[in-house]
Amino acid sequence: MINNIYIHIPFCRQKCNYCSFVSYPLITKMADYIRALKSEIKYFYKNEELSTLYFGGGTPSLLNIEDFEQIINLLNVTNDTDRKSVV
Ligand code: SF4
Repeated sequence: MINNIYIHIPFCRQKCNYCSFVSYPLITKMADYIRALKSEIKYFYKNEELSTLYFGGGTPSLLNIEDFEQIINLLNVTNDTDRKSVV
């Protein structure tokens, strides 16, 4: 049962020298990554109501609004879901 989801967006405009997070300056790969992410959600996630939805990275704010909407629309997010993002 899945009640808490962390979604990693592993892209940044550039890779900072000191950074140890999993992130790559390959924004051109974003579309492929989002396509794979949505497939994984559809395969593993069974519409459980989420307690927490967390986006991290990388730089999650590089996602466009359509990608955010498409991802969130695959998830059972309610008014009780705690939403967090590090941008
Ligand atoms: S995650 Fe933050 S610190 Fe790391 S490369 Fe991206 S912008 Fe730089």
